[in-house]
Amino acid sequence: MSYKEPAPIMHDKDPLESMMKRFHIAAEYLNLDEEVYSVLKSSNKKIIVSLPISMDDGSVKVFEGYRVIHSNILGPSKGGLRFDPGVNLNEVTALAAWMTWKCAVVDIPYGGAKGGVCCDPRSMSKSELERLTRAYTQAMHDVFGPDKDIPAPDVGTGPDQMAWLMDEYSRARGTTVNAVVTGKPIILGGSVGRIEATGRGVMVATLSALTKIKINPFNATVAVQGFGNVGSWAANLLKERGCKIVAISDISGGYYNEKGIDVGNAITYRNEHKGSLEKFDGGKKISNEELLSLDVDVLIPAALENAITEKNANQIKARLIVEGANGPTSHEADSILEKKGIVAVPDILANAGGVIVSYFEWVQNRLGFKWTKNRVYRRSDSIMKQAFNNVFSISKKYKISLRTAAYIAAIDKVARTYKYRDGSFTFQKNDKNS
Ligand code: NAD
Repeated sequence: MSYKEPAPIMHDKDPLESMMKRFHIAAEYLNLDEEVYSVLKSSNKKIIVSLPISMDDGSVKVFEGYRVIHSNILGPSKGGLRFDPGVNLNEVTALAAWMTWKCAVVDIPYGGAKGGVCCDPRSMSKSELERLTRAYTQAMHDVFGPDKDIPAPDVGTGPDQMAWLMDEYSRARGTTVNAVVTGKPIILGGSVGRIEATGRGVMVATLSALTKIKINPFNATVAVQGFGNVGSWAANLLKERGCKIVAISDISGGYYNEKGIDVGNAITYRNEHKGSLEKFDGGKKISNEELLSLDVDVLIPAALENAITEKNANQIKARLIVEGANGPTSHEADSILEKKGIVAVPDILANAGGVIVSYFEWVQNRLGFKWTKNRVYRRSDSIMKQAFNNVFSISKKYKISLRTAAYIAAIDKVARTYKYRDGSFTFQKNDKNS
């Protein structure tokens, strides 16, 4: 094969570089031809906007916003909107490509995208956040659309931002378009089960993986980094199923209790303290680094990228890592973990529960019909289990990690769809996914 290995970009912990290295490994397994390799490695579109916002003190602050559409091969692009001080174009580009692979691995008809605004939402008032979300939506109103590009919540955004986005987009179109965004409040057309969907998918992936590696989930010890939407729901649902959550953390630090954290208490505490666990007394205070190296059965990184790198991978003692966050493990850490025999369920599979239920929300909006919670849970659990089993059997068949297997499943699907669309494949009766 003649395509070149991607050159290192910026620094050794760039999420785009980690994504590209994994893409390259899977492309080599698949023997992708050069044309498809170059199409799939590139983003379709990258938009950068400046957003001047009136702040509550009367000043005007200019924020930089991004939307990257990685691919529309499988369908309209789908991906969250992140409000965080660390947002930059490379990060958003990597996250957009991960969305393409994620939708493909769980077999839903979406391409991948991601958006972000470099800002600190914790230091902004609700009205400043509303003005910022509306300005971002105005700047992107030609990009978004239920058949084009559909945003959703991510770090630093939630149902409020999605409601403002839906309202601003609908004003510009002169009609209510609730299918333009998912993760909305239920009253605006949000789906039951969406808020807990990613954490629920993490729970399903964890239980499936524990069964495969023959660890009894009952009383399995779990440490969760990040106690936002994904981490807190994953912790809560795993606790309900008998696991013992011995540590949780957020940006304020970690909290360890060998008898088990009372997750319900921690959620109430966080909700009553502006989203923070600071001074939570349900466990001994530890650092985020200490949490990552605890001797537990399961480690769930559910905060941001690069929590596990070549610098700390050797200290990890967990037997199973389930990636609630996107990109929590750097490419360099992969081989260290593999050598230690640690099984990692990769982000593009483990945290796909959110986009699965986002897809259900979009389907319900377009049907003008609401599903019951039972139907949402049943269908999303079943898609997660099926995707996990598919990736697991690829990894067994080729003796490769679950990560490489997941990339292979995803890239193969997108590549074959591309080939059908551009006419270089013709329909075969025995095509396994025909
Ligand atoms: P969130 O904003 O609700 O929570 C993020 C949590 O991480 C907070 O508890 C925050 O304090 C903590 N955190 C931030 N920086 C940290 C640090 N340096 N050390 C330790 N903790 C830190 O975000 P979320 O929606 O739960 O998303 C978390 C991760 O999951 C992100 O990588 C996101 O892309 C990914 N994800 C989210 C969804 C979703 O549906 N929300 C879906 C798929 C993937």
